[in-house]
Amino acid sequence: MLSIGDYQIHSLKVQDFLFEGGLMPVRNVDPLKPMPKIHLATRLLLIVGNGRRILVDAGIGDLCWTSRWSTNATTPYRLEEELGKHGLHPGDITDLVMTHLHSDHVGGAFACGGDRLVPVFPYARVIVQEENFRTACRPDDRERPSFNETIIEEFRQLSLFTTVSGTHELFPGIDVILSNGHTRGQQLVRVSDGRTTLLHGADLIPTTSHYPVTRVSGNDIDARTVIEEKSHILEEACQHGWILFFGHDPYKHAATVLRRPAGFVPGPAPEF
Ligand SMILES: [Zn+2]
Repeated sequence: MLSIGDYQIHSLKVQDFLFEGGLMPVRNVDPLKPMPKIHLATRLLLIVGNGRRILVDAGIGDLCWTSRWSTNATTPYRLEEELGKHGLHPGDITDLVMTHLHSDHVGGAFACGGDRLVPVFPYARVIVQEENFRTACRPDDRERPSFNETIIEEFRQLSLFTTVSGTHELFPGIDVILSNGHTRGQQLVRVSDGRTTLLHGADLIPTTSHYPVTRVSGNDIDARTVIEEKSHILEEACQHGWILFFGHDPYKHAATVLRRPAGFVPGPAPEF
């Protein structure tokens, strides 16, 4: 178990999914055949303490099995089972912090209730960056496929929906860092007691494969910004011994950052 200040930190691996392995046009690939896919996971960060039970992101969820939803998930959503390991139910979550509103992070916040969607976390305050919410409400052609209009509308109607702006302290010892390269207004969640610091890398550093700073994802909206932001975060993490949490790595949920002549590489992290 990992404790930081008054908080206990847990990693919930709730789902597996397939993602386009290459979003770039390449030669010698039959354009009529699907692109090779890679395996990714959805991991949620659970932070318990100070009277709060905070979940970072909601994952893809089970709506993906319905015909109008992406079918990239390869396993059912194991939220209840994973929360159950810590004696919790979805109704116990007090705060749902969304790193950003792309579909693979929001779908799990709703379930099908007949012909309508019902909130999975009925008592949770939902915390979203204002700029990302604005982007999600009016996406451009580049980013539109990453959002689901229905879910965004459902969020807007929740009475506990809250927006925050910029780098911000959410709770004592928990703040968010703004990051704009993957999508405008993504927030990285940081938990620190001054000695131990854990940072949720969201989709800026979603796997250990993203450590090389110039390795950007095909769906990042601004590769240059991603490179600048990653260089800065990895440098800080390396210098101060931060633990990075990975929301999409299929093999590892956390690592530290070591500097090698060829660049940054994952280092050992405490067990949790
Ligand atoms: Zn994602």
